[in-house]
Amino acid sequence: MNYRSTRGSISNSLNSAEAVIQGLAPDGGLYVPVAFPKPTIDLAAIAKLTYKETAKLVLSLFFDDYTDAQLDESIQAAYGQQFDDAEIVPVTKNHAGSHYMELFHGPTLAFKDIALQMLPQLMVRAVKLTDVNRKIVILTATSGDTGTASMNGFRDVDGTQVIVFYPNGGVSPVQLQQMLTQQGKNLDVVAIDGNFDQAQTEVKHIFNDVKFGEELKLSGSQFSSANSMNIGRLVPQVAYYFYTYGKLVRDGVIKLGEPVNFTVPTGNFGDILAGYYAKKIGLPIGKLICASNQNNVLTDFFKTGTYNKKRDFYLTNSPSMDIIVSSNLERLLFDVADGNSDKVIELMNGLNTQDSYTITDEMKQRLDAGFDAGFASEDAIKSEIKRVYDAAKYTIDPHTAVASYVAHQYQQRTADTTPMVIVATASPYKFPETVYEAITGKEVVEPGYAAVGQLFDVTGDPVPAPMKSLFEIEPRQQIVVKPEGMKEFIKNSVK
Ligand SMILES: *Cc1c(COP(=O)(O)O)cnc(C)c1O
Repeated sequence: MNYRSTRGSISNSLNSAEAVIQGLAPDGGLYVPVAFPKPTIDLAAIAKLTYKETAKLVLSLFFDDYTDAQLDESIQAAYGQQFDDAEIVPVTKNHAGSHYMELFHGPTLAFKDIALQMLPQLMVRAVKLTDVNRKIVILTATSGDTGTASMNGFRDVDGTQVIVFYPNGGVSPVQLQQMLTQQGKNLDVVAIDGNFDQAQTEVKHIFNDVKFGEELKLSGSQFSSANSMNIGRLVPQVAYYFYTYGKLVRDGVIKLGEPVNFTVPTGNFGDILAGYYAKKIGLPIGKLICASNQNNVLTDFFKTGTYNKKRDFYLTNSPSMDIIVSSNLERLLFDVADGNSDKVIELMNGLNTQDSYTITDEMKQRLDAGFDAGFASEDAIKSEIKRVYDAAKYTIDPHTAVASYVAHQYQQRTADTTPMVIVATASPYKFPETVYEAITGKEVVEPGYAAVGQLFDVTGDPVPAPMKSLFEIEPRQQIVVKPEGMKEFIKNSVK
């Protein structure tokens, strides 16, 4: 199966292994399937599969350049003991009106692990398939969770180096400690004086800097990406939509073929796009509901068809969603424009030069058919954490609460009774300060480790193992650079 750029022509398409190594297309676009696989997915069979078997099914559809054995080895390595639940992705019974798909049972306690335990496996095998004998330098902009998850996944993986850029002051105390305590000889982590959007924009610039790329190649290295801009990160995420559907069938919540709605807490639009791809290849999804925090550019977009990035940026208590330019939306635009890359280029140019673009009525209609959207204020997030806790003694993190709130609003507004799955993206222990305050109405004594303890005292939910040792590890010194200093930092650290 081949992949093409959203901004380029089919004649420049790559196979899946090449696309995984490339990460971002040289023209600034994102790789998308030239044609989606047209599987005759046997839903009855899905309902019987384990998580690993589901992942195998999905990966083999999208990544058919890999051998069967390569995919099996990758799946075994990615979804093993590093997950604290043998199911990998447990799905809760109905709690306060919804099912929660728990994606946070991996080593860094957020959903990024599902894809970032897999990506290094795909990357090292892609290197073998394509005879690239350069070191792969993975540039990662993070809003908090991708950084740790990519460092954890790529730690000491031969032939790779990871450089992470996170917004200084823009991540939670636990997220910061996680990033600064990752062990591995091939990892660099740097704070930038700016927000996620600035980090991501500069990473894209560096990627598209042809001269810099050539210099790097001469020294035996090349760039790739661990952001959801990389198709190797997106495709493993398609699997959990299938798995959860199968689980709901097994549990008797739905009958085979009946639709399910998913509400997805959204930042860079990677997670929800994976749901859209699942639907495209035949999963009966009714609506995908895009949930934002106070940075609600996507809510406005789905409502009006205009994407306007000229707006205030807020630091919220769901920091992994503090994003104004959602990269993966470009893949959806490409799809609803019927693969018209000229249209995508026109819209993206508008975003660059006028800070906004408006899609055509036809594109808008196609979006309306499959999506809904809403957002949660900081107060709404806290009251939702409390509502769900009081109703079901179920503790959710602030990102999950965004989705949970928006789903609840959607159900009340539309009277749509389709079973609802909330995509639960992080462990509440990653954001103990906000969760404790929401449940008890009191502030924690001290952020970080002490707050984890206080939250445990209230909920009694088991503290995940990686969290217990986290604060015993001496963190590395924080390095801070300006966005315009990122390139220099990379030059000095790639040797
Ligand atoms: C990254 C992240 C999100 C947003 O996911 P996108 O794929 O960027 O839309 C939501 N919640 C958590 C906890 C995250 O880490």
